[in-house]
Amino acid sequence: MSTETPESGRSVAVLFPIPGGGPYTYRVPSDWEIPPATGCRVSAPLGRKLLTGLVTGPGLPVPAGVRLRALSASLDNRPLLTPDLLELIAWLAEYYFCEPGEALRSVVPGPFLRVGDRTVHLSEAAQADPPTGLPPAQGRLIELLQARGKARVSSLRDELDAGPLQRALTVLENAGLVTLSDCLPRVPADKTDSLVSAVAPLPEAEELERLLRRSPRQRQCLDYLSGLAHPVEAAFLSRQMGFSPEVVRTLAGRGLARITQVRRLRDPFQSLDLPPYDHPTPSAAQTAVIAAISRDLDCHRVFLLHGVTGSGKTLVYLEILRPVLAAGRQAVVLVPEIALTPQTTARFRAVFGDRVAVLHSGLSDGERYDIWREIRAGRYRVAVGPRSAVFAPFENLGLIILDEEHESTYKQTDLTPRYHARDVAIRRMRSAGGPVVLGSATPSLETWAEAESGNVVRLSLPERVAGRLLPEVRLGDLRHGWTGSDKNGVTPALLKEIGFALEARGQVLLLLNRRGFSNFVLCPDCGGIVECPNCRISLTVHKRLGRLLCHYCGHQQPAPEVCPACGSASLERIGAGTEQVESALREAFPERVVDRMDLDTTGGKWSHHEILERLRTGATDILVGTQMIAKGLDFPNVVLVGVVNADTAMNLPDFRSTERTFQLLAQVAGRTGRGERGGEVLIQTFNPAHPAVRAAVHHDYTGFARRELAVRLEAGYPPYVRLLNVIFSGEQEPVVERFAGDSAALVAALIQRKHLQDRLTLLGPAPCPLERLRGRWRRHLILKSREPELIGSLGEFLARRLKPPAAGACRVTLDRDPASLM
Ligand code: ADP
Ligand code: ZN
Ligand code: ZN
Repeated sequence: MSTETPESGRSVAVLFPIPGGGPYTYRVPSDWEIPPATGCRVSAPLGRKLLTGLVTGPGLPVPAGVRLRALSASLDNRPLLTPDLLELIAWLAEYYFCEPGEALRSVVPGPFLRVGDRTVHLSEAAQADPPTGLPPAQGRLIELLQARGKARVSSLRDELDAGPLQRALTVLENAGLVTLSDCLPRVPADKTDSLVSAVAPLPEAEELERLLRRSPRQRQCLDYLSGLAHPVEAAFLSRQMGFSPEVVRTLAGRGLARITQVRRLRDPFQSLDLPPYDHPTPSAAQTAVIAAISRDLDCHRVFLLHGVTGSGKTLVYLEILRPVLAAGRQAVVLVPEIALTPQTTARFRAVFGDRVAVLHSGLSDGERYDIWREIRAGRYRVAVGPRSAVFAPFENLGLIILDEEHESTYKQTDLTPRYHARDVAIRRMRSAGGPVVLGSATPSLETWAEAESGNVVRLSLPERVAGRLLPEVRLGDLRHGWTGSDKNGVTPALLKEIGFALEARGQVLLLLNRRGFSNFVLCPDCGGIVECPNCRISLTVHKRLGRLLCHYCGHQQPAPEVCPACGSASLERIGAGTEQVESALREAFPERVVDRMDLDTTGGKWSHHEILERLRTGATDILVGTQMIAKGLDFPNVVLVGVVNADTAMNLPDFRSTERTFQLLAQVAGRTGRGERGGEVLIQTFNPAHPAVRAAVHHDYTGFARRELAVRLEAGYPPYVRLLNVIFSGEQEPVVERFAGDSAALVAALIQRKHLQDRLTLLGPAPCPLERLRGRWRRHLILKSREPELIGSLGEFLARRLKPPAAGACRVTLDRDPASLM
């Protein structure tokens, strides 16, 4: 077959943000003077739809005689994506075994790639001579168009199913009965403010008198405006000054006032009250670390900043940003979650002002769109945000910082590709040429092992700032303290400690990583537990809702009076959650203000912020919460941290459960003793000898890492091997089971054929620990190898070869470097 390369520059490759999204080659219409550059958005027809895609490069050679479809519209004059981000998309697709279109969808905010639509009209011929005797779908379509004249194709989907609709459109278009035209994708409209000013110079006094004699309000308004040095917002004029929009419009109509529209940036973080921040002078230890990183800003190196809680890591970040910005480069600062780390964000804003973009997860599509566009336009120099901010479209990125690099939120787990922001950051800076700084008091064992082997440069801040000490950590042994009266976990010992702290006018944080009132409902007669109908998970009691709730799929139902299995009426509610602890504390300290922070109390866009503000300003005495309260808060008046039950995640069947437990305990303990008053920690547990608990008591990260790494080595888990978790899920258990089994056989045969027995281990198929979730049965295979390349080629093989049996009945997910195997 002969191929030809279309005339250079007259065809381009376009990638669409969907599975099966190409890249595909399109012809640049001959009347376009300049072809769209690589990285620009275009709209182009794909199938019968008009979609928005991204130009990824010149068109590919096509077989002779193939007629290319033409681009419909060019949407950018300047590339939206820089070459390094295009490269990153290709890398994401390759490394995480997904399609480039899926990678694109994770990189670029949705509004930029909103699907376009088409309009269908009845043709003149069909209007003049309405067709008759058509098959039902075509007939229905013609009828609808006769009634409406034209319609958006998307709106027709309410009337006709997609398949018949598409066929009907094709047939009718070919028969010349309908015509289709493009509508460009809608982008969120800019928000604008109207600014009003008096014209200068104003007409002579006599002339004004003549114009405004019978309009006293206009006269007053003009007097007000002409006394101002700056234009003023129209909204302010009407709301604060009482000049109606009509008054302002008439003034403008008479040529006396000018109204200009300015685009407003929708950045809610800008309008929030941010806590004040005094910028301290770096200590000797901080200075040494700052110097070590600043020396090497032009080459790619990964640093681990291992600094104990309260060692002043944020100041280090701020100081290393200065030389990066001074060199004309930009920086990204990743935080686990903006809402939970408002202080970090505030500090960056305090030092770098409005050159800092905050990519909050609560931003609306329109807000995210604005900020991205402004970053692209060069207005910002620093972006602070959660995982996806690693894709901020800076032109000349010089540094990426990951604060609390051990946090699991850096791994995307709900969408393909399941990327880890740390690995993406390292990849991005390797090609951009600049450092990555990973900061944590409790580094992930992956990063720690890299530091041990010298691939990552370790820098330490072993002590807290200003000579402050790490808090004393004591254990409450629940095995002996159990009295029955404190079923809710709030033991007399804990109550006593809280009482002391409050008397000393200190504040208290109480961690229980389990929301709701009671963990589950147990029938003591048959031993049954009330489970979610969609998941193989017990339902949690939520008292305020008066219902049982599934924390995985959101299913709700009334609490049963009798056991659904045996009818027994003596159901018991077992295991306290945050809601119960909160109410126990309210009872114990009726004069005090008890607040709670967990998923149930943080539904509002700014509710995290409000809860933390109440704590910061001293309005709250005791804050009860889930892991949300363990994230990096810096409140000097917190003198006691209580862990109601340290064991909630200890025994999960997951290789990371010990590491996660340690990180949570060490981090929450780090929230106290940050002021001059010092602080204490009380950890209640049934497992005082557990390595995570022991290490947290002694603030012994290094010892913990050494022991846990030995366990991982022995058991064959990361960082000593690389994992690929292959998850099969579907509504019918036998289908999932068979698919998983067949896939395992495929892999086993490959291992045999290629003699990979010593280099690759296949585990499973086995039911996932969460065997049923959201109505789907789940099984998995785990592949282990010491060689990342082998995992790479195997994953690529599986992505190509594993075809689910019946469309939609079964799904397969490839999770490379999984954060958890649940
Ligand atoms: P980390 O992130 O390491 O837990 P932070 O960066 O939140 O610690 O700093 C803890 C506190 O110490 C903050 O209130 C910060 O302002 C303060 N701090 C940081 N560096 C210094 C310093 N050199 N001198 C005095 N206070 C400091
Ligand atoms: Zn029962
Ligand atoms: Zn459920």
